[in-house]
Parts: sequence; C-alpha cells; structure tokens
Amino acid sequence: MISPRTRGRMVLRLRAAGIRDERVLDVMNQVPRHHFVAQALAGRAYELVSLPIGYGQTISQPWTVARMMEAILENNPIPRRILEIGTGSAYQTALLAELGAEVFTVERIGPLHHHADKVLSRLGYSQVHLLHGDGSGGWPEQGPYDAIVITAAVPCALAPLYRQLRAGGRLVMPVEDRGKQHLQVSHWDGHEALISHLGDCFFVPLLAGTVSLASGEC
Ligand code: SAH
Repeated sequence: MISPRTRGRMVLRLRAAGIRDERVLDVMNQVPRHHFVAQALAGRAYELVSLPIGYGQTISQPWTVARMMEAILENNPIPRRILEIGTGSAYQTALLAELGAEVFTVERIGPLHHHADKVLSRLGYSQVHLLHGDGSGGWPEQGPYDAIVITAAVPCALAPLYRQLRAGGRLVMPVEDRGKQHLQVSHWDGHEALISHLGDCFFVPLLAGTVSLASGEC
C-alpha cells in the first residue's frame, strides 16, 4: 500500500485525470506521500483524496496539488524561489523542493510547523525555510519570489502579495466566493495581474493569527 508501485499507480491516475506536465508527474512519483500522514492513514496515502492531518486541517488532494504546480510551471522554467502559505503536512512543500526550487513556507499552527520541519529534515529537504507565523501578509523579508502558492482558501486576491512577486511571477490560490471555491492563477507583470480560473476545488480557510498549542489536537 505504500510501495513505489502504488505511488506509480497514483501517477497513472493523475495522468488519466488530465495532469500533463512531466516535471510535475515526475516529482509526484518521487515524493513518498505516506510519510506526510499519520501511520494509521498511510495505506490511503496514494488515493486521490485529502486526508486529516490533525488540528482540523488536511493534506491536500494530490490532483489539486498537481494542478497548482502545473499552473506555476506552464510555459515556464522551474521557479527559483517559491513562497508557500500554509505548510500543513509539508507534502506540497516537498514536491516544490523536489522540483528544484528554494521553498519558503509559513504555517500558523505551531505543532504542524514543528512536525513539518522534522519530516522535511528526515527526508533530506535542506533547501526549505520554515516559519511559524500568520502568512496572510506573505514573508516579505525573503522576497521577491518567482511564484507564491496559497494552500488555504482566501476570500479575495491578497493584493499586497503581488509586491512580493517578481515581474513575470505567478500567484496560485483557492478563492472562495459566495460559498464556492475555485482555483485561480494570477500572472503578475509588475503592474497588473492577468487572472485565469482552473476549476473548482475545496480547501480549509486561510485564518488570521497563530496557534501555538504545545500538544494535542484542537
Ligand atoms: N499543502 C498543504 C495544505 C494544508 S491545509 C498540505 O497538503 O498539507 C492548509 C494549511 O494552511 C493548514 O495547515 C493551515 O493551518 C494553514 N493556514 C491557514 N491559514 C494560515 C495563515 N494565515 N498563515 C499560515 N498558514 C495558514
């Protein structure tokens, strides 16, 4: 259930579901998703579903993760610096690092941030920088970025984040509008954003502030 062959079958399902970028399929074939969920759920890690990771949060659905990465990469070389808002399980963080990017990732829930740090070090992802904090304002000190990925639903485009993007950079995020969510990619030319929609999705909401529970679930 957690073998490379099972992972290969997940990649075949992603291909059948319309994911085309070989760079994305390749990293989805490399990164062991079962290391990013609790042991009790490891047997389901290669299904195309989101799974609970504690604290009311989820590891994103593999198809959605793949689609977000395709949107960043479309007609583009691998971005050198990527900001991820919402580390969560760190699965997407690892995929972005596996692509070859330097990844900056922010998580508001302390225990998820610490767990992510441990898993990424154990798996040898050294080009990842983690921050425990509220990522709604991005991580300006480390910008500008070639791409920004928000992995929690936002009510509208977070305008200040464009200022942390290089001209030519992209911002991918789930946007919530009247109770429905869609994935959106914004191409930032330095002055204006050209926005396209990538289809429906379902994410937990982006929340303000931080949580620093020492242990246990909430
Ligand atoms: N890509 C991650 C998605 C995790 S769910 C994965 O596949 O595991 C979204 C994450 O965003 C949650 O861990 C949640 O705590 C975090 N989050 C929500 N609002 C945030 C904020 N303002 N700043 C940083 N992280 C936030």
